Amino acid sequence: MEHTLYIYNTLTRKKEQFIPIHEPHVGLYVCGPTVYGDPHLGHARPAITFDILFRYLKHLGYKVRYVRNITDVGHLENDADEGEDKIAKKARLDQLEPMEVVQYYLNRYRKAMEALKVLSPSIEPHASGHIMEQIEFTQKILDAGYAYESEGSVYFDVEKYNRDYQYGKLSGRNIDEMLETTRDLDGQSEKRRSIDFALWKKASPEHIMRWKSPWSQGFPGWHMECSAMGTKYLGEQFDIHGGGMDLMFPHHECEIAQSCAALGKDSVKYWMHNNMITINGQKMGKSLGNFITLEEFFTGNHVLLTKAFSPMTIRFFILQAHYRSTVDFSSEALEASEKGLERLMEGYARLQKLQASATSSVNISEVRKKCEDAMADDLNTPMVISALFDALRSVNLIHDGKETISQADLSELQSVFKLYIEDLLGLQSDSASANGTEAYQKAVDLLLNIRLEAKKNKDWATSDKIRNELTAMGFEIKDTKDGFEWKL
Ligand code: ZN
Repeated sequence: MEHTLYIYNTLTRKKEQFIPIHEPHVGLYVCGPTVYGDPHLGHARPAITFDILFRYLKHLGYKVRYVRNITDVGHLENDADEGEDKIAKKARLDQLEPMEVVQYYLNRYRKAMEALKVLSPSIEPHASGHIMEQIEFTQKILDAGYAYESEGSVYFDVEKYNRDYQYGKLSGRNIDEMLETTRDLDGQSEKRRSIDFALWKKASPEHIMRWKSPWSQGFPGWHMECSAMGTKYLGEQFDIHGGGMDLMFPHHECEIAQSCAALGKDSVKYWMHNNMITINGQKMGKSLGNFITLEEFFTGNHVLLTKAFSPMTIRFFILQAHYRSTVDFSSEALEASEKGLERLMEGYARLQKLQASATSSVNISEVRKKCEDAMADDLNTPMVISALFDALRSVNLIHDGKETISQADLSELQSVFKLYIEDLLGLQSDSASANGTEAYQKAVDLLLNIRLEAKKNKDWATSDKIRNELTAMGFEIKDTKDGFEWKL
């Protein structure tokens, strides 16, 4: 591979050179949504973060198998081992089949991801479609002696595991302290210790989502699906596992324990975690009244929003921060991002129309390297954006006739901008996204070229008709010395 990628491995707490296990193949697993509610910012950030990684790995020449699961069973309230299944609860409240709830919110999730220009993963496995694999994985852990059956449920024996491996190494928790504070439960619970977690739960009589297993009619524990499906689709060892930082404990810590217990080794070479999003400095939460869904952002229909914000503005806003930094959303910050994106896309459009001269008076030789270096340095998207804005200063000066650019330099700059803006950052102008396709842009260009022709032929009637009618539709048309510029 031409470029060396460095990524921050949450497990070793170090930036490491990325070396795939089976070059050129890369296995990437990201924990996807639990589909029981409308998609919100907490869904957008990991999806966009790992979309950038997916795009960049492919750009580097790797063949990437990107698995992002759909949690549709086993995720109980408060991420705990007791309580109602999140999806079953929603189904009960809305009087729907659990799978109706799943389909409804999955459709909405996919629609939102498409609007945000998040590419579809290679495989989107459902937890409920992999019950057999989860039963087998649980059996392996039982056979290895790191789990016990109790009243039809199967629990992971954290204390025993910790004697042979290290529980808590990802989140940096001190297991001795945890064992101390979670003393034996003295037979009050099925679990030996409260720190133990469920691999399989026996279903209570009112629990609707249930399957047959060697231990009981029941359902898998939440952490089990990712171990089982990651191994099934990416092998016993694979390259990258990602997710939000909120999943580090207990979810990912338990995944590591499950894999080590069943397979004798951690399945994952690099762990990557995106940081969290706050709203006006506060954690996002339904009880705090600051819970904003993506649809509410897109329509502006929320008391905390001054206006609607396009999916591209949300994407750009997220990319303006490094994925390991926290991001604080506010209407003011989004308005600033909106303006920044508009400037970037106007400059990009202007770049397409620049005229080359015999020689360059600007130096653009470093632009590609600056972008490449930033991206290869743990996906530093804010540095990429700043390198593009630096280059835009030259574009504007050339446009104003104050500097010149040669054909070779112009082609190079156009190619770098296309690669980074469109292919890797996945950005496009809002008028283009709102109206779907490039075809629309080409159609407006075509009309304005006909108008130009008409003007040359002094056919003022046609020229005015095109201009007036486009203006009435909301287009802003500007005549320039080389032709025209327009925006919606
Ligand atoms: Zn997971």
